[in-house]
Amino acid sequence: MSGQKHAEIAGGGIGGLTAALSLARRGWSVRVHERAKELREIGAGLFVWENALRTLEALGAYDEVASTGEWNKSWQIRDHRNRVLQSDWLMKDSRLITAERQALHMAIANQAMRAGVEICTNAEVVGASSDGYLELATGTKHKADLVLGVEGVTSRVRDQMPGQKNIERLYDGGARYLIRRNENDLEVLNSSIECWNGGRRVGVIPVSKEHIYLYLCCPIADKKGAETPPNIDSWVKSFPQLETYLRRLTDNGKFVEFRDIRCEKWHHGRMAILGDAAHAMSPNLGQAACVTMQSAYMLARCVDEAPSVHQGLRDWETKFRPVVDATQRLSRFYGRVGTRWPVVLQDARSLMIAAMGRSAKLQHRINVAVRTDVTALAPVL
Ligand SMILES: Cc1cc2nc3c(=O)[nH]c(=O)nc-3n(C[C@H](O)[C@H](O)[C@H](O)COP(=O)(O)OP(=O)(O)OC[C@H]3O[C@@H](n4cnc5c(N)ncnc54)[C@H](O)[C@@H]3O)c2cc1C
Repeated sequence: MSGQKHAEIAGGGIGGLTAALSLARRGWSVRVHERAKELREIGAGLFVWENALRTLEALGAYDEVASTGEWNKSWQIRDHRNRVLQSDWLMKDSRLITAERQALHMAIANQAMRAGVEICTNAEVVGASSDGYLELATGTKHKADLVLGVEGVTSRVRDQMPGQKNIERLYDGGARYLIRRNENDLEVLNSSIECWNGGRRVGVIPVSKEHIYLYLCCPIADKKGAETPPNIDSWVKSFPQLETYLRRLTDNGKFVEFRDIRCEKWHHGRMAILGDAAHAMSPNLGQAACVTMQSAYMLARCVDEAPSVHQGLRDWETKFRPVVDATQRLSRFYGRVGTRWPVVLQDARSLMIAAMGRSAKLQHRINVAVRTDVTALAPVL
């Protein structure tokens, strides 16, 4: 009998594929079940911070991402008067590549397939059990040493996890779009910008030679801001300095409300949940997918090195959960400051944000995920 361990994974997004690749690199056989007809990322761009870059390097998917994404030398926050409050926000300990989602997703998928991962599309998972079964909508059950639910916010595997699960509305949200990039967009050459005005924020993020990723965030109570397709005139009124980008918006995005998901437990027996399924968070720090990749890598490392899968899952949750919980909390705080600050106190907010940017101690704290190197021989946690 072969001693090779086997994993069944629900969800072929960034989290599921990173977990699959991490396990396959350690010699596991892995099958991924993706509900969609094909592997496809919904959304536009992503911030890929140091913690995710290290994970991609360790898994051999870095070169493909680095060759298509944009290297950022600066990451600016500008206020309602278009003053630059910070120009290297969170970059003191971190490299930053901004990339098209699909490019990142396919870089991981390509490596996973090369490493022997079996990816089944049109395969909807409806449940799992702690003794190591994953169940498909067709009625088929697959047995494994490890089953993972990485199917995003609507996870069915999460339903089988004991303990409390909270899905909390945050009352703010955002829409993501890709626009065409042209040679006059010099201010975003190797540089990303986020502009604030009242409760609205716009990010202008170069993600490839062809595209800029634009995100528009606001409270859900801001009816014009939350319109899909975007109410371009209303956004131009708030951000006239960004008109050249905003006028290029087309109907390729959608406004969604942000949610925090918090679960009492991430594992039970041979079953675990990972990524948005376990800890969806607001995207304000651009870290949700990055910590998911780190977590996937860490999970594979723990289950592979521990004497049993159950022990490995326990080690993983004990060691890595504090990093995720802190990132989720800080992201939520950032969102509150950005979208729910009283308009009359905007100048005070600008002073505060500028001061935060100067505080190495604070940035160090916010950058908890970046400082955590799960790929090091003895992970720095
Ligand atoms: C506006 C916005 C901006 C963001 N920006 C950033 C950023 O800059 N940087 C960053 O790090 N993160 C960012 N994030 C967060 C990031 O998108 C998510 O954390 C990440 O995509 C989660 O990956 P996942 O694999 O856990 O889930 P998902 O990406 O949701 O993937 C889940 C997969 O499972 C499949 N699936 C669902 N149900 C089933 C089922 N029953 N059976 C089988 N398959 C199923 C889905 O089709 C999908 O392919 C942002 C999020 C939002 C909303």
